[in-house]
Amino acid sequence: MKLLSINAGSSTLKFRLYDMPEEKILTKGNFECIGSNNGEYTIRVGDRKIHKEVLLSDHNAAVGILLEELVSNKIVKSLDEIEAVGHRIVHGGNKYSKSVEITSRVLKEIESISDLAPLHNPAALNGVRAFMNAIPNAKMVACFDTAFHQTIKEADYLYPIPYEWYVKYDVRKYGFHGLSHKFITEKMTSILKRKPNLIICHIGNGASISAIKEGVCVDTSMGFTPNAGIMMGTRSGDIDYSIISYIMKKEERNLEWIDNKLNKASGLQGIAGMNDLRDIDRAYLANEQKVVLAIEMYTEKIVNYIAKYFVKLGGRVDAICFTAGGGENDDIIRKEVINKLYPLGITLDDIKNKETIVRKGIEGVISTSESTIPVYVLATDEELMIARDTYNIVG
Ligand code: ADP
Repeated sequence: MKLLSINAGSSTLKFRLYDMPEEKILTKGNFECIGSNNGEYTIRVGDRKIHKEVLLSDHNAAVGILLEELVSNKIVKSLDEIEAVGHRIVHGGNKYSKSVEITSRVLKEIESISDLAPLHNPAALNGVRAFMNAIPNAKMVACFDTAFHQTIKEADYLYPIPYEWYVKYDVRKYGFHGLSHKFITEKMTSILKRKPNLIICHIGNGASISAIKEGVCVDTSMGFTPNAGIMMGTRSGDIDYSIISYIMKKEERNLEWIDNKLNKASGLQGIAGMNDLRDIDRAYLANEQKVVLAIEMYTEKIVNYIAKYFVKLGGRVDAICFTAGGGENDDIIRKEVINKLYPLGITLDDIKNKETIVRKGIEGVISTSESTIPVYVLATDEELMIARDTYNIVG
């Protein structure tokens, strides 16, 4: 069965067409600058990559072009072959603890929680509606980034703030990157052949850490929004909230300005003046002092969460897993983190760590055989997670 896995942002749409259950990717690509007059898209056809610049007035236009390309390049014979479309939806609020088929009721419910993710949910819904219009016979499935974390207990998801803010406005920890944390949990379940206890470090530009107990999420570092938890590429992660009003007064700026600074000019960017871990690593090897400081802070925050989750899991951790762009490829960050975990008896195999680079197609264990907890480096695949969930629902 053929199905599309879709990740729609406000001006972008990433897609993959899968043949399921074989999990074969038939094509993939992306649309950029939707809604502006310099739109462009890329689609892979066999070994070729087609790249075109076009006017993409809205998501309907992008979806129309995508479906036309699928037929004209004979990737599908007719659009009827596409039986389902799985959509990444950032926020499922309190309502969704798993992926669901999108009915008109579900569509209304996702709309009603758009306040919680004003930049993301409306954009994803534009994608859903565009596919509903273009291929009305295909089933639509919503795959939420928050769903996997819905098993977190009340005492861990509530903030120590007036309880009525939770009751009236749904203010609580939701957690994000759920599709990735779920994918890694399933991968480890199949590697270890049991429901594992894990600490998963999703280290991308955005970054989050989750504690998994017997295959179920019991805590995660991101919170009400993705701005919480560890220091990230450009986000601060957890800080003392009083800094906000203090700096607003000092700089005579409004909330929007400070929100932007904490989201886009903080984290590694704020300390080191750069956020891409590849640049950071080069500067670190050249011993640039601000970058050395930034790495010291960054790895310390990761270690803090690993230590906290080690305790949360009662000291019974089957594996620590590194994933996402940085976790999969950055041996320097991994080494600095693992070296700080020596009090727990976790030890790194330096050679394996250097060799294990997902970009080069290598995954696996990077700890020594004496390490008390094995450390894995694994490729995540959120698009495939969407495809699997979609297939399980409609297949
Ligand atoms: P996001 O979806 O949050 O952008 P990704 O999972 O795509 O995150 O990861 C992006 C991050 O991965 C960037 O900070 C980037 O520097 C880092 N990264 C990608 N390739 C490498 C590499 N070869 N070495 C070190 N870091 C890398």
